[in-house]
Amino acid sequence: MKFDTKVVRGSSKPDPTTGSIVPPIHQTATYVLEEVGKDKGFDYTRAANPTRELLEEHLAKIENAKYGVCFSSGMSAVDACLKLLKSGDHVVCSDDVYGGVSRHFNQVLVHYGLEFTYVNSSNPDEVKQAIKSNTKLLWIETPTNPLLKVTDLNAMNKIAKENNILFGVDSTFATSVFLRPLEFDADIVMHSTTKYLSGHNQIIGGVILTNNKDIFDKMKFIQKTIGAVPSPFDCWLTMLGLRTLHLRMQRHTENAQAVAEFLESHSKVSKVFYPGLLSDPGHNIAKAQMDGFSGMISFELSGGISAGKHVMNNVKLCFLAESLGAVETMITHPATMTHAEVPAEERHARGLTDGLVRLSIGIEDKQDIIDDLDQALKQA
Ligand code: PLP
Repeated sequence: MKFDTKVVRGSSKPDPTTGSIVPPIHQTATYVLEEVGKDKGFDYTRAANPTRELLEEHLAKIENAKYGVCFSSGMSAVDACLKLLKSGDHVVCSDDVYGGVSRHFNQVLVHYGLEFTYVNSSNPDEVKQAIKSNTKLLWIETPTNPLLKVTDLNAMNKIAKENNILFGVDSTFATSVFLRPLEFDADIVMHSTTKYLSGHNQIIGGVILTNNKDIFDKMKFIQKTIGAVPSPFDCWLTMLGLRTLHLRMQRHTENAQAVAEFLESHSKVSKVFYPGLLSDPGHNIAKAQMDGFSGMISFELSGGISAGKHVMNNVKLCFLAESLGAVETMITHPATMTHAEVPAEERHARGLTDGLVRLSIGIEDKQDIIDDLDQALKQA
């Protein structure tokens, strides 16, 4: 099957009992055994559920992965990966990761003896220099949230293999449509399915994809043991959203390119972060390793934070909201919303200013999005 067909048909299994084209939701906690020791492949939903398995199969197909394991959020998927490590292990991590990820690393996992070093992973030399004798995992986000920094996955793979460490990629912003890190020999790919993969702001979820049987077995064990599993209904909603992923991503990227170019030429905008712009430092790597630049843009205004707040408070079509990757255009203030818990000093050190505005460009008519931003910018 070609990619687009896998997106549409990856979980198309009409129900054999009724012919229902949409797979049923197996909303059950447990399963009746035929006799002691003999079940039909399922015994308890924390361990396995047919609706969840269908979604896992679908997500694995479109990433070209052998295995997929779903979790109840992107964060629980990240947490499951970190459970591959032991106390005393060290992680090298991109410095501009989603604020919830660095909060988890710095405020929870450090208490369990894990150690973290954050580097600008757009610069492979910085990554190399950060590797220590106890480094066990290289954790990359590309493009990053919220500065859209791009990391060269071939270079990261080389470093990981040379040092015999696990290589994981949070590919939430790129999606399987535009980037498939397993093709760059990553060991683990993680997505927050809350975002583009489900696509309609309808669920919270996460997935781990891998070609490595040992990692898969450990992920299944963690999934069953900890129980951070998505509900069958959430899996079903994700599957329905997933069927249009390729079409949505095409529109997200087209709209984002137009909005980024509009912002770049606007007199009140001082800086635009979007890998699709020729002026963006990540453009060449993104062009080489991705099939599209996706729908996320960040920008700064010449008037700083107060101008940024004016824009965010005066948009009419764009929703002022925390998330990303859905059909509706959303505008966010990372310093007070998504990255509020990253200490100000750390935020500023990594280039995340208080005036930064983040846009998740939706699939509406692009002119309506531009007109809305234009009227809000006039008031800034
Ligand atoms: N990774 C990235 C890049 C994100 O943007 C987010 C959430 O915004 C997460 C992980 C966490 O995902 P979730 O909110 O589904 O737990």
